Amino acid sequence: MNLLEYGFNPAMLAENGDGIAARITAVHKERYELVCEYGETFGRLKASVYYGQGMEEFPTTGDFVLIKYNNSGDSIILKTLPRKSKFERNDLKGHAADFVKTVLSQVIAANFDYVFVMASLNKDFNLKRLERYLTLAWQSGAVPVIILTKADLVEDYTPQMRAVERVAAGAGVYAVSAKTGFGLDALKDYLKPRKTVVFLSSSGVGKSSLVNALAGEEIMAVKEIREDDSRGRHTTTHRQLIMMKNGVMVIDTPGMRELGLWDADAGLREAFDDVEQFFAGCRFSDCKHQTEPGCAVKAALKSGELSQERWNSYVSLRREAKFAEDRGGYLRHKEQCTKDIAKFNKARSKYGGY
Ligand code: GDP
Ligand code: ZN
Repeated sequence: MNLLEYGFNPAMLAENGDGIAARITAVHKERYELVCEYGETFGRLKASVYYGQGMEEFPTTGDFVLIKYNNSGDSIILKTLPRKSKFERNDLKGHAADFVKTVLSQVIAANFDYVFVMASLNKDFNLKRLERYLTLAWQSGAVPVIILTKADLVEDYTPQMRAVERVAAGAGVYAVSAKTGFGLDALKDYLKPRKTVVFLSSSGVGKSSLVNALAGEEIMAVKEIREDDSRGRHTTTHRQLIMMKNGVMVIDTPGMRELGLWDADAGLREAFDDVEQFFAGCRFSDCKHQTEPGCAVKAALKSGELSQERWNSYVSLRREAKFAEDRGGYLRHKEQCTKDIAKFNKARSKYGGY
């Protein structure tokens, strides 16, 4: 097996020292599935590297790593190579205290070239959600491509197409139908050997159908399964990074499903429009709804039109949302700190240590 076919860039070896290169194809609890020049293998993390002084980032599906190959058992994963793109989990369930802990090992996919951002053209079409996904896609470091699915279900998709093009910010927009094959040819530019694709979509949009249509084989289970027909149930692999016959890889990890739910700001607006509707009535447009005169929120609380409980939960979620927005900044800061520490340690060992 040649790791170049998996998109490996050998230039990475020179800078990163010993071991042979491998790509993570699935993550289990403490064990990783890998491909390397010797074929498929399992690996475990080298404890002193990964659990030592907080140095090495845990690998995730799609990561390139360096391993010490073992042909009679699990190989040892020595290092996670730098990522060119990644998705991170950002669920808001935890509180600030948990945040630092969770954020450090929550990368759910890495080193993909394209993010297929999907929305369905039928009645479920939702531009706001698409915009949220698109933002995530741009942030990942890969190239977003917008795929509008189920074109066969609408007579004229021009209005949706125009609306999407207005928010696409340079991403390509394609209408397709996995059912009829319409539009699939236009995606060929992206589906080149050695490229890795991930999909950002809500369930039911048609991701599995599209992947199967593009792959020309049943890679993912399509949800509607007739009792008398078990064909749809069979997926060819449990792997999270799948090599298709055409040489293109698809990453689909359980974590991908939750992505996009974290965008609390937009989510909040949807979930709390009964609260936010009062804001328009405040005298000042920048009203903080605290001590300002003419505050419509305070009036509504007083009259009972808005319950105190509802307002409190809005305020606390709002706070969490703000916190979430700052995560990007936090991560950059953390990365810089890690680099500085690594540099410091390197210098220390070079000059004899202490
Ligand atoms: P996923 O949840 O995004 O993976 O969506 P699936 O691929 O499982 O599809 C969800 C439903 O949409 C199934 O009933 C599919 O048959 C249907 N579907 C998917 N793609 C198309 C399409 O292009 N046209 C039509 N008419 N239905 C589709
Ligand atoms: Zn107010």
